[in-house]
Amino acid sequence: MLLNVLAAAAVALVTPHGGPLTPTATHLRASSFSMAGFGAPKPAPKTLEEMVRDMGNRLPKDPAETRCACGSGESYAACCRPFHVGDQQTTTPEAALRARWTAFAYRLPIFIIDSTDKTNSAFMKDRIKWAKRLSKTSMFDDFDFSASRLGVGAVEPGESEESVFMENSFTLQPKAPMGAAPVRWAYMCTHTGCIYIYV
Ligand SMILES: [Zn+2]
Repeated sequence: MLLNVLAAAAVALVTPHGGPLTPTATHLRASSFSMAGFGAPKPAPKTLEEMVRDMGNRLPKDPAETRCACGSGESYAACCRPFHVGDQQTTTPEAALRARWTAFAYRLPIFIIDSTDKTNSAFMKDRIKWAKRLSKTSMFDDFDFSASRLGVGAVEPGESEESVFMENSFTLQPKAPMGAAPVRWAYMCTHTGCIYIYV
């Protein structure tokens, strides 16, 4: 039985003329294209979650032992983390504000996206593009959140029954002192006045 199987396999590897099986021209063309990368299957596009993971975050290593960046005095695990991981929904404007502040502090663009209304001017339908834009320009990478402060103010009735206004304040501490680096600016002055030329 085993011998028969081996014999059948041997037959399959020879041409009807008895010579060894060689790849046809078509096969050769296909394989050379593959080698050049043309025929190689495209890698699946990254999901939003994969992309954001690659962007990196500033999450505390020990959420139960780290005070939440929103300034509540509680640990991150007991304060804003349940909102970030989706275990809880924010039910007060203050919680929503704190969770968003902390999402910027810890670099969590998906939470920023998910907690932004579609009427907001920053809203984008393409969540991947939006996350890329946030990561590039709006995650406050130049600021030290441990030295930045969020001030939560009073809530007033908003424009509809479901909306409110909040009087908030914040200070953002730049990592590098602003204006400390020497700069060389050029101005050109003529009889019509002085204008700025370049940095
Ligand atoms: Zn918090």
